[in-house]
Amino acid sequence: MKIIKTVDEFAAWRNRQKNSIGFVPTLGALHDGHMSLIKQSKKKCQSTVVSIFLNPTQFAQNEDLDSYPSTLDQDIHNLDFLSVDILFLPNEKEMYQNVSEVKIPSSDLFNKLEGKSRPHFFYGVTTIVAKLFNVIKPTHTFFGEKDAQQLFIITEMIATMKYSIKLVSCPTIRDKNGLALSSRNSYLSTDDKKQAAIIYQSLMKVKEGLDQGISNPNKLKDIFKKNIVTNHNMKIDYISIADIKILDEIDTIKEQKVLVSTAVFFQGVRLIDNFIYRLSET
Ligand code: AMP
Repeated sequence: MKIIKTVDEFAAWRNRQKNSIGFVPTLGALHDGHMSLIKQSKKKCQSTVVSIFLNPTQFAQNEDLDSYPSTLDQDIHNLDFLSVDILFLPNEKEMYQNVSEVKIPSSDLFNKLEGKSRPHFFYGVTTIVAKLFNVIKPTHTFFGEKDAQQLFIITEMIATMKYSIKLVSCPTIRDKNGLALSSRNSYLSTDDKKQAAIIYQSLMKVKEGLDQGISNPNKLKDIFKKNIVTNHNMKIDYISIADIKILDEIDTIKEQKVLVSTAVFFQGVRLIDNFIYRLSET
């Protein structure tokens, strides 16, 4: 694996490539969720580029930019083990001074769900992903369903900005108790992680409710809330049942596809999870 830190060096490598290039953008502190995206890229594309860039503009003042986990040596080892072709490892100056500014068309999706709690977030994410696309010029890119709203927003951005990049969405990887893997899970102890699995278990109770034909979203949200408050240290930021296209809350669940998503604070860590549900047409 080659580690490239500058845009110029990357461009020199890129100019020599003729075949498909899969790109996996990350913030680092890699885990099996990231690895699953990389494995997909290795399967589908001739070359795979992974970026590690802790993008400051997607963190608000009160968030954990300074303490965000960093395991660079281990990350390099793991990427090398998977035979990733290039690790793109730029610094802030490289991305914000040496890559041209991009103008991202604003989207209604930015201010829903995660955007309500973290209004800066999707502006920061789309700006850096577009800049990275402009440098890497991939044919394919791989995003996780764990960050469902991000996935929808990047899909929309690829269409509106007319990038000819195929986005491949990859399922959420979980630990054996169901907790979605996340770099931020490293803030939690082993016992905390066991307890945090109640988030996924509560989402699955909602799924059971949907399977049983409950169509009132408030009832379904109550199922989630009642289940999760059995752990007194959990504080729900939001639980949402939204239309998958516009991400507005739904009044009655009919035959549409819905995104059931949540953010929960536990031991000072904000954990997110979701699932997508489609009512069968029986
Ligand atoms: P991050 O480093 O957290 O920005 O994540 C980089 C990419 O990995 C994003 O596309 C995430 O959606 C994806 N990802 C993070 N956690 C998981 C997971 N548990 N399962 C699948 N994909 C994930």
